[in-house]
Amino acid sequence: MTIHLLKIPTPFPVGAINAYLLEGDQLTLIDCGPKYPDALNGLESELGKLRYRIEDIQQLIVTHHHVDHIGLAGEVVKRSGAKVLANPRTVPYLTDYASVRANNHAFYQQLMIESGVPGDIQEKIDRTGGSFSKWADPVPVARTLDEGDTVNIGGGSWRVYYTPGHAGDLICLFNEATGELISNDHLLRDISANPLIEPPLQGETERPKRLLQYISQMTRIADLHPRIAYPGHGEIIHDVPGLVRKRIHFHQRRANKIYDLLKPAPLTLWEITHCTFQDRLKSGSDFYLGLSEILGHVDILVSDGRVEGAKEGEAIKWSAKNK
Ligand SMILES: [Zn+2]
Repeated sequence: MTIHLLKIPTPFPVGAINAYLLEGDQLTLIDCGPKYPDALNGLESELGKLRYRIEDIQQLIVTHHHVDHIGLAGEVVKRSGAKVLANPRTVPYLTDYASVRANNHAFYQQLMIESGVPGDIQEKIDRTGGSFSKWADPVPVARTLDEGDTVNIGGGSWRVYYTPGHAGDLICLFNEATGELISNDHLLRDISANPLIEPPLQGETERPKRLLQYISQMTRIADLHPRIAYPGHGEIIHDVPGLVRKRIHFHQRRANKIYDLLKPAPLTLWEITHCTFQDRLKSGSDFYLGLSEILGHVDILVSDGRVEGAKEGEAIKWSAKNK
C-alpha cells in the first residue's frame, strides 16, 4: 500500500501542511489544508500529479479541528460528495466553527485576566481567535471515529487512537499489520507541537491539562512501536520512540527552568511567558501559542507538587514550593 504525501501551502508560520492520499476501495484523503486559494491550488496540483482530481475523493478523514487541517473540507465535499469522518469532538468545529469560537470566548477572556495578560495583548489574541472561522467552511460529518474504532483505508485496517494533547479532539490512526501511524500533529519530527489552551469539553468542568495528557498519549503511542509515522507538517518520522523520548525530555527541562524562575518570587502566567520568550512573540497567535506552552509546563509543576497558584487580585500568581 502506498501512502501519498500531498504538501499543501498555508498562510501560517508553520508552513505547508501534509495531507495524505490512500488508494484502495475508496479514495481517501486525510486532512486537507485551510480555505485559502493557494491551498486549494496546491491540493489540486498535488492530486493532479497522481492523476486524480478533487472530484474523485470518496472519503475525507480529518484528524483534528485546526483550520490548516479542516478548512477545505467544505470545498472537497461540495465537489466530490465525499463522506467526512471525524472524531465526535471535532464535529462542532466542522459544522459551525464560528459558534464554537463564540461559545468559548468567555473562557478565554477569564483565562487572560487570571493570567495577568495586558489589555493590548489580550486584544491581539482576541482578534486572531475571532478571525479563525474565515479559514474553514461548514461541512456535515457522515461518520464519527473514536478510540478503538477501526476504519478501512488503502486496503488495510486502521485503528483509531484518541490522543488529546496538541488538540483535545486529535486522533491518530495506526495500521498494526504494517506498523504505519498517521500521527498528524501529535508527533512532528522537527518541531515540538504546542498543547493549545482549550476550554473544558462537554461534560467536563475543569480546564483540561493538555500537556499532561499529551505526554501520556505520546508514551502510549511510542509503546505501539510504529515503524513509520506520517506527521501533519515536516518530514516523515522513522524513530517514534526516540522522538517521544526527546520531546518528553524537552518538556521536563522547560518545566525545571520555570521552577527555577519562580524561586525568587511568584509570577503570573503572563510574566513567566514574557521572561521565557522575551521579545520573540509578536502576533496574536504567537502570544496564544507561548501562553499555551508555558501553562502546560506550569500544569506539570503543579501536578508534581512543585508549584502552587494563589489569587492576587484578579490574577493568579504561581509560586515555587520546597525551594
Ligand atoms: Zn494542529
